[in-house]
Amino acid sequence: MTAENKPSRNEEEYFAKLEAERIARRSAEMARLNQDAERKSHHMRCPKCGGHLMTKDFSKLQIDQCPDCQGVWLDAGEMEAVMALEERGFMSKALGDFFGSLRGKKK
Ligand SMILES: [Zn+2]
Repeated sequence: MTAENKPSRNEEEYFAKLEAERIARRSAEMARLNQDAERKSHHMRCPKCGGHLMTKDFSKLQIDQCPDCQGVWLDAGEMEAVMALEERGFMSKALGDFFGSLRGKKK
């Protein structure tokens, strides 16, 4: 290699910096893809047992319930709606109807 075509120290540092930036972008992209895949694998899955949540009508709400462990999940704002129903005295009847319907389906 002659002195003319030998990369200068500045060029080497420049290309090393570009390579480091490319690797960092690729690493961030892989982390984002892994996070997306992880989130997708948990969508509508029971956080307790991993069962597939099913959306059911419950009084005036739609709730997500696990058919395996019977756990019930409320979306944002649904707890407040449940409490409002309770204050108006609808909750006990609705709960009774809901769990009664579950018992009926198991027969
Ligand atoms: Zn479950």
